[in-house]
Amino acid sequence: MILRALLALLLLVLTATAQAAVLTEGPLSVTVPESVGEGQIFLVEISLTNQVETVLVEWMGRATEVTMTKRGNAFKGELLLGAGLGTKHAPQTILVEALRPNRREMVLGKIAVTAVAFPEQRLSLPPSMVTPSKENLARIKREQEQVNAVLAVASPRKFWNFPFLRPVPGEVTSAFGLRRILNGQPRSPHSGIDLDAMMADPVLAANQGRVALTGDFYFNGKSVFLDHGQGVYTMYFHLSRIDVTPGQHVERGHLVGLAGSTGRSTGPHLHFGMKILGQSVDPMPLFTAGGAFDRQAKGGS
Ligand SMILES: [Zn+2]
Repeated sequence: MILRALLALLLLVLTATAQAAVLTEGPLSVTVPESVGEGQIFLVEISLTNQVETVLVEWMGRATEVTMTKRGNAFKGELLLGAGLGTKHAPQTILVEALRPNRREMVLGKIAVTAVAFPEQRLSLPPSMVTPSKENLARIKREQEQVNAVLAVASPRKFWNFPFLRPVPGEVTSAFGLRRILNGQPRSPHSGIDLDAMMADPVLAANQGRVALTGDFYFNGKSVFLDHGQGVYTMYFHLSRIDVTPGQHVERGHLVGLAGSTGRSTGPHLHFGMKILGQSVDPMPLFTAGGAFDRQAKGGS
């Protein structure tokens, strides 16, 4: 617990000292952090003094449109991005383009991705529990392809707004990025957070969005994937019941299902995950009171 508190404190200090850079060209101005830790979320703020057709942002091999809103004499837009788990600790390029009928403005920036000290956990389990059967391997592959196909598409419309809602009130029982070593073999690190929950506790949508996918998967059990627009997805795993259907629009706080222990799970809890343009990021800073993301939506939208 003390270690976890120290890590949380360290993270806060890192977030607080991150310097912002302002990139400009003509009427286009973009604010980005100079550095971001592996697995961390950051905010990009875009301002334009004239109207454009489309604003496009490219980051880590993916792109999204940004919804711009008129505010006073300017047009403003914001998006969440992240340097996902496994990102190389090196400068990464961000490209922002503002397109008008006969010209375009473009800024190019570098954001340094820095190492984060993730906790480690060593576990011993009977080999039969660790290695799935041939049939199950085929099922896992099929399900992974289905999920990847859904996550590859992002609604260009921005549905999300600050603040984000913690989907269940429980404590974090397994942190983001936890390096799991199973029978001496390193496994993929924990790509989300486990939140303590009782069987059948309500699980709420973290923000406004569209239900992109539901299903009962080998590892993740009964699952809901929400598309919040501009590449932001949230995921709710191991549910005992699903209360939404694909295509449905949900508001922040909408009941998506009930907590459970379906799939590969040792007891009732909610695994909550977040991906932004395919990058697995730590959602906890979004729920931290007084943190960088504890803010209300800016007017206009
Ligand atoms: Zn988990």
